[in-house]
Amino acid sequence: MRFVFLGPPGVGKGTQAARFSERHKLPHIATGDLLRVAIKEETSVGLKAKSFIENGRLVPDEVIIALMEDRIQAPDAKSGYILDGFPRTIAQAKALSEILTRNGVALDCVVYFSLDDETLMERIVGRRTCPDCHAIYHVSYHPPEKEGLCHCGGILFQRKDDVPETVAERLAVYKNETSPLITYYKNENILTEINADQSVDRIAENLQKMV
Ligand code: AMP
Repeated sequence: MRFVFLGPPGVGKGTQAARFSERHKLPHIATGDLLRVAIKEETSVGLKAKSFIENGRLVPDEVIIALMEDRIQAPDAKSGYILDGFPRTIAQAKALSEILTRNGVALDCVVYFSLDDETLMERIVGRRTCPDCHAIYHVSYHPPEKEGLCHCGGILFQRKDDVPETVAERLAVYKNETSPLITYYKNENILTEINADQSVDRIAENLQKMV
């Protein structure tokens, strides 16, 4: 099964993808996580991506497409995956389609998580992330058991791009560059929409029923 989880930053697709991945034993491939690891390890991709991420802009298509082409053809992704944060532009969607066609496979479903901007801002600004296992918390809605500490022992941090000014830029970039994918995948008849203004459990239940 090959899924794309699509939606604005902060909509909760990472949280849902992590759960869905565990339930269905599919790798959760999150471009944002891959890029943050690349930055930490100072790889050539990381060096190219750093300033774009910090400014809330998209990393150039060619960098992302090369990264994802390798990742989705890795042995653990042979029978499927959940793509979280990719594709984010029409050019990336077309490149993904070409890679899939070359491999004789296709996407099964694109799940579009929808939510209004005000709620998105609130969710992102309160988000805390684990640098070790990539778990996601929220200071009010999903606080860790011990303040500042992940269940794995990692020290939670606020992503540099989760501060309000950068979030506004990311939401604008989403509207201009990523939201056209909703129509793109609707036209391919593989889009399913989920209202993300519900609890994490309820969204997970709906997701389960839909796919
Ligand atoms: P995320 O963790 O999905 O919110 O991604 C964090 C940042 O990584 C984004 O704001 C972009 O700068 C970059 N990024 C992640 N995925 C992509 C993508 N598919 N195309 C371009 N940039 C990306």
